[in-house]
Amino acid sequence: MKHELFDFLNTDLQFIKGVGPVLATRLEEVLGGRRVLDFLLHHPSYIRARGITENISDAISGETITIPLLIKSHKNGGTFGRGRRRPTQVICNDKMNNTVIVQFFNANYLDYWLKKLPIGQWRMISGKLENTSRPTINHPDFIEELQNASKIPSVQAIYPAGEGLTQKIFSNIRDQIFALLPDKLRGESDERIVEFFDALEHVHFPTSNEDLSPNATYMAKLSYCELLAHQSAIVISRRNRTDVRNRRAPRAKKYDLMGKFWASMPFEMTGAQKRVCDEIFTDMAKDTPMMRLVQGDVGSGKTVVALAAAIKMAESGAQTALLAPTDTLAQQHFIKLKQQCDKIGIVCDILTGRDKGVSRREKLISLRSGRTRLVVGTHALFSNDVEYRDLGLVIVDEQHRFGVAQREALRAKGTNPDLLALSATPIPRTLSMTIYGDMDVSIINEKPAGRKPIKTTKISSSRVIELVERLRTQILSGAKVFWVCPLVQESENDTGTTAAEMRHKMLTEYFPTAGLVHGQMDKKERDAVMAKFADDNSDMQILIATTVIEVGIDVPRASIIVIENAERFGLAALHQLRGRVGRGNTQSYCVLLFGRNVSEDGLKRLDVLCETEDGFVIAEQDLMMRGVGELLGTRQSGWLHYHFVDYREHRDLFKLASRAARENEMDSWTNDLLFLFNRGVIQGA
Ligand code: ADP
Ligand code: MG
Repeated sequence: MKHELFDFLNTDLQFIKGVGPVLATRLEEVLGGRRVLDFLLHHPSYIRARGITENISDAISGETITIPLLIKSHKNGGTFGRGRRRPTQVICNDKMNNTVIVQFFNANYLDYWLKKLPIGQWRMISGKLENTSRPTINHPDFIEELQNASKIPSVQAIYPAGEGLTQKIFSNIRDQIFALLPDKLRGESDERIVEFFDALEHVHFPTSNEDLSPNATYMAKLSYCELLAHQSAIVISRRNRTDVRNRRAPRAKKYDLMGKFWASMPFEMTGAQKRVCDEIFTDMAKDTPMMRLVQGDVGSGKTVVALAAAIKMAESGAQTALLAPTDTLAQQHFIKLKQQCDKIGIVCDILTGRDKGVSRREKLISLRSGRTRLVVGTHALFSNDVEYRDLGLVIVDEQHRFGVAQREALRAKGTNPDLLALSATPIPRTLSMTIYGDMDVSIINEKPAGRKPIKTTKISSSRVIELVERLRTQILSGAKVFWVCPLVQESENDTGTTAAEMRHKMLTEYFPTAGLVHGQMDKKERDAVMAKFADDNSDMQILIATTVIEVGIDVPRASIIVIENAERFGLAALHQLRGRVGRGNTQSYCVLLFGRNVSEDGLKRLDVLCETEDGFVIAEQDLMMRGVGELLGTRQSGWLHYHFVDYREHRDLFKLASRAARENEMDSWTNDLLFLFNRGVIQGA
């Protein structure tokens, strides 16, 4: 039965055995949602083979191996973390009496490992081999008694994971979901649904890396479904927009606010900002709703333009809702926007998931009465119990973080309101038609006066001490520094934050007040550290972070950003990160540190960044130089949220899907696809 299937797909992941609310929230950050369906759409990106080796001398460094080992002795030893944190080392022998060291960094667990790896016994151990001259396996992924060796998979699908998430969590959830699916699919009469889930199963249980390439049968099939869903959503949205039944009379002006607004501005708008404002005002005066995307690099001043639109809307007495991707961003917008609104005398409020009880109720009353003219918030803005008196304009910040469906869910709170989407991710012109087919595009291609170009350099990570010395001088003269460590998971049990933690440890020796934020921290704690860093009066001048800072925090005094292992990021992601500095009037710097194993292509990609700050040029290069999705930071930095589609490989599928969406009748299969890929908010006409 279809509704039983769809209910299952809508189930919150916290109800899967072994998951629970905390983990579900972490998964949500990676999956972009927390339902079974969101998990299913998140597919493995490659396969890791765990070949069985009997003789360690046959294995090569960097390879993942499974090997039977005899445990000989345990000790705390080695050097790590400047000698203070000594790892636990378990000395073993392979069948040929070669020594293999199994090493655990979380020190002081000697007793625990003594029990788990008792001296004199054999264990089957699987993990990455680090060093062949002194063979070492750090934090093995699997440890099994020999008779249970078959529990260790010979090929393993690796999922793009996030901080605080291990591969084991992913494979556990996958196995449970696919065990339940056949029951939910029983009696399904639509072949296409059955085939769809069959394709998903193939992709989640790949047997080779070829199975995961964009043009592999099942990947291509799913990509086409995804494109069809997306293109159909665009067609529907365009039809709704131009439908005569949705025509409206232009709103009458009741108050005079724009004059006050211009007078209250602390600076002069750039030519590009003025032009885009005009385009917006023209749209707002039409009898069909506005659907406009404003693209502009980080720091180009999109927020003021959005505010101008909100004030224009308020002149008619109608309301504006500004949707931001995170609490932190919403908070930051709110503080700035409220300041400006206060000057003009209009009510600005904030609504996020944190608002509870009385305060939330009061906020909702003010929205319902129409008193609040501008509300900033997260997805809380379109919760069921939120009502607007007259929602005239929806603004979506960092629009790539939301699906068409989410923006439509918010629009549904008004009667066909105007939509203004903001995006700092430049989409190459060659793609914008297929992606934003239902929107008009404005571009802010000019930075506010007085901004100095950011000086970008790339240096080898072997020169890190030299860099730290130079930073010291800068910090003494008041600079604030972001230090970004990528999320790298070296092994199964690694939750990815170790790199940032280790760097923080090292840097506190130079800068005792250095702060640290990563995704495994409690959100409140993380926000508190960020706020402290942003505070001009605090002594925290350097902040070590994982990419959680990618979208967000505005720290005008931050003038230096260091990005470690920059070669692992996509160009668009690096560009986005770099945008965290260069917001004030001082000279800003971006230092790209590259690792020892950087490839020639990797260095070439970094050169693009050193040479230009033009987001469009970078986006085009990014698209040409790699497949979307191969590098870190892809998800966060935008490129829309395609799960299967690859822009380079699927150009023909794009055309096919776009034609099919325009020409075919919307049938039940289209509706199913809209549900599967668009969170079911959009309904076929
Ligand atoms: P974006 O959202 O495009 O990244 P913001 O709107 O946050 O950029 O603007 C970045 C900073 O530049 C803000 O502090 C803002 O007040 C300032 N700003 C915006 N427009 C101008 C301008 N025309 N002149 C001077 N400063 C500006
Ligand atoms: Mg912004």
